Amino acid sequence: MTDHDYYEILGVSRNAGQDELKSAFRGLARQYHPDVNSAPDAEERFKEINEAYAVLSNDQHRSAYDRYGHAGVRGPGGATDFTVDFSDFADIFGDLFGFGRTSRRARNAPRRGADLQYRVDLQFEEAVFGVEKEIEITRDEVCETCRGTGAEPGTSPVRCATCNGSGEVRQSRQTIFGSMVQVTTCPSCNGRGETISTPCHTCKGRGLVRRNRKKELTIPAGVDSGTQMRLGGEGQPGINGGPNGNLFIQIYVKSHKFFKRHDHNILLDLNVNIAQATLGAEVEVPTVDGPAILKIPTGTQAGKVLKMRGKGVPRLRSNGRGDQLVVVNVEIPTRLTADQRELFEQLAQSLGSEVSPQERGFLEWLREALGS
Ligand SMILES: [Zn+2]
Ligand SMILES: [Zn+2]
Repeated sequence: MTDHDYYEILGVSRNAGQDELKSAFRGLARQYHPDVNSAPDAEERFKEINEAYAVLSNDQHRSAYDRYGHAGVRGPGGATDFTVDFSDFADIFGDLFGFGRTSRRARNAPRRGADLQYRVDLQFEEAVFGVEKEIEITRDEVCETCRGTGAEPGTSPVRCATCNGSGEVRQSRQTIFGSMVQVTTCPSCNGRGETISTPCHTCKGRGLVRRNRKKELTIPAGVDSGTQMRLGGEGQPGINGGPNGNLFIQIYVKSHKFFKRHDHNILLDLNVNIAQATLGAEVEVPTVDGPAILKIPTGTQAGKVLKMRGKGVPRLRSNGRGDQLVVVNVEIPTRLTADQRELFEQLAQSLGSEVSPQERGFLEWLREALGS
């Protein structure tokens, strides 16, 4: 029990809030904890800090202390028990006393193996129509020589002498809060409870071996960048008899020279000349199914989006296909022959000099095409 001022002990002002008190206590407790501070007065200081915080963190005790000093918080015999709720400070005391460590039960419990990721790059058309791909993955597998025990055939793991097979060691230690039992993973066997005297020659006692495995993948039509496929149980092996992890295939689709994906539709930018746009035409355009004829209507404006039904991407997990949307760009000639120039000049005279504001832009055309 201290006669020093509680606020001075914690180094805070008399109107410090709870957060400030807490952080002052946290810092001092870490500094003066007798387990980490070997100074002869560390334990005394730590008790003071503890007492000061116990009083000031309790509103009722604090106001009594503010009014009457130490006398206000001590019973007639001066033996009030000041306890701090250490659950708020598990981060400090967990480190010191081994609270919150993984218990042996958790360590030896069956656990699912880790998941593996594999990236598959696809050509644009492969993503549209689906493809069979062979991939090679590297993963751990249970060693066949020792069946995962890590012990050379003919020998067997022996019970760990350090922990007597429990996988954990208990240490009782005296702290200022009394005797505490610290449970840690056995350092000799790493918590397995067994040690291997003659390690398996194949896996060097690991119980696992690194393997390259070829897998046939059937990639369905209609996948896109970001599509993920899950191959159950093809990941890392389970631990302590747990199930294997999964293998996740991440799809990445390379960009195409002409085509762009927009969900199930394919966008294609197409240049037509000014006569084709004005008079209309039938032109051959690329599609993912091969060249196809597209009708350019008479008087097609630049930015108009023409739809080629069913020439898009098959819908994943349902029927039908999207469309190919052709965005028409009218090319304005930059080099004219003498004949062409003469024709344009005649056209210019005939069309006159009037101009008008544009009514519809590319985005409206596109919105209409995607919406319908
Ligand atoms: Zn082995
Ligand atoms: Zn052991």
